[in-house]
Amino acid sequence: MKYAYTLLLILITSITFSQDIYIHSGKLVNTKSGKIETEKTIVVSGNKIIRVENGYINGGTKDIVLDLKDKTVLPGLIDLHVHIENETNPNAYLQKYTASEADVAYNSVGFAQKTLMAGFTTVRDLGGTGVNISLKKAINSHKIIGPRIFTAGKSLATTGGHADPTNGNKRSLIGDPGPKEGVVNSVEDAKKAVRQRYKNGADLIKITATGGVLSVAKSSSNPQFTVEEIKAICETAKDYGFHVAAHAHGDEGMQRAILGGVKTIEHGTLMSEKTMDMMKEHNAYLVPTISAGKEVTQKATIKDYYPSIIVPKALEIGPKIQNTFKKAYARGVGIAFGTDAGVFAHGQNGKEFGFMTEAGMPAIETIQSATITNAKILNMENQLGQIATGFLADIIAVNEDPTKNINTMEDVVFVMKEGEVFKKE
Ligand SMILES: [Zn+2]
Repeated sequence: MKYAYTLLLILITSITFSQDIYIHSGKLVNTKSGKIETEKTIVVSGNKIIRVENGYINGGTKDIVLDLKDKTVLPGLIDLHVHIENETNPNAYLQKYTASEADVAYNSVGFAQKTLMAGFTTVRDLGGTGVNISLKKAINSHKIIGPRIFTAGKSLATTGGHADPTNGNKRSLIGDPGPKEGVVNSVEDAKKAVRQRYKNGADLIKITATGGVLSVAKSSSNPQFTVEEIKAICETAKDYGFHVAAHAHGDEGMQRAILGGVKTIEHGTLMSEKTMDMMKEHNAYLVPTISAGKEVTQKATIKDYYPSIIVPKALEIGPKIQNTFKKAYARGVGIAFGTDAGVFAHGQNGKEFGFMTEAGMPAIETIQSATITNAKILNMENQLGQIATGFLADIIAVNEDPTKNINTMEDVVFVMKEGEVFKKE
């Protein structure tokens, strides 16, 4: 009896002294209904939203009120395509040989912070060296500041393919990387490579289904996996609860990836109408990365910025990405927001919203793609992407109503992640 009384006392004390946060939101983007709501109070307790009330309400004397009455409040944004370990610069190709893992790690701390401050509270990292896995752990254990990371660890490629780590090396440094290093050339290799990623601590799988722009190799878009290899990757991935993302510019490689069972097609540059229809049929999503297309087109005009083998590929592929997105959206392909940050400077992810609306997607739908759609792809639809009871308290704010001026998404003035305020201007 005495024990029960003590427990009750502890319970009452903890209720009385827990400090909740009351966010007064002038405008609030309801990502589920697609409507802008006015004068709401979001009540945050610990790391969760415990309720959303009409009007402006204050809690008890111990509680905190955050005044965002002149702002538009949204759920934390999700970017499904970033490379948090590195950022474009004229020495990037040399740094592969001069930067140690520790150098990469220290740099990535700053990139992660910039990403969070831009309002992106969750990202999917689509490939680095594996430092991205350590970075995720450091953020989760509150040692450093950054977005919630779901990472592929190292991307999977075939020999000489877009993510073969020794592409372009001199003979003595080419070696023969295998599944452990993320290079597969058979169904057996494919299974091992996926299991190795699981062992390393990845959350999902990324494959490079076709050639790519920024690798030191000739083709931007040839198919680089067989359907059987992709099937083996997707089926093995399923055993570990992983989904598969496929980098693809060329149409044939994209079709093989869709038939193999991938969840998202990254870039999708040379996608035919037939492939668009296949995407719909197989519930695959296009991650547009228009920002990356614009960046490589522009950087390719700067002398010696990229190795010479990359320049024609950048000029061929870069300018086409936005138009492919336009066609795919119009044809009803599912769109998942993703930028390829790292190919351009981290923290500028928000520009993608403007590029998407420019190509015909209504502003509210671009926001829905970066919240509810992406949460669903990450299997987090009950925790992320909405400001609603029971969801994680990932909340951001911008100065203007983004459905009136989408460019306001480039200037996020308030960032809360799991109930903790990281930015308040
Ligand atoms: Zn990428």
